[in-house]
Amino acid sequence: MGYVQTRNAQHKKKTVNRYTPEGWAEIHKNLGINTDTMIWLMQNPVLDKTIEFADNRISLFAALYGRCAITGVDLMPYEIRCHHKVTLENGGTDEYSNLVLVTEAVHILIHATLEETIQKYLKELQLNKKQLEKLNKLRKLAGTPAIA
Ligand SMILES: [Zn+2]
Repeated sequence: MGYVQTRNAQHKKKTVNRYTPEGWAEIHKNLGINTDTMIWLMQNPVLDKTIEFADNRISLFAALYGRCAITGVDLMPYEIRCHHKVTLENGGTDEYSNLVLVTEAVHILIHATLEETIQKYLKELQLNKKQLEKLNKLRKLAGTPAIA
């Protein structure tokens, strides 16, 4: 019996639990997303949109860890735009695969046709090559010409 060794449990953080505000905060922290923003999305569905749209908007937020699909910045509640890759007018749906979450500035840039507007937001966003490629894919789908 002298050879039996015991070890303390080391992998579970004691602060993580469901029973204290601090413990609950730790759980949320570990999800890696801003749960306040997520709750905001749940409480503020876009008016005149379907339940499918509302659900997918929240799912996308979780899947992208709360970040803009183009710039990768953390999305703040009031600037979140849920864009239809193929517009509803062109037969697009509210399906998950047809939606993407971006910042308001990126959303304006996806739909912008005026050179002045395009230049203004390009300057503001300072997109790199990869981000610009992603943006142009969305612009093409939206029926706006690619930005050179
Ligand atoms: Zn849009």
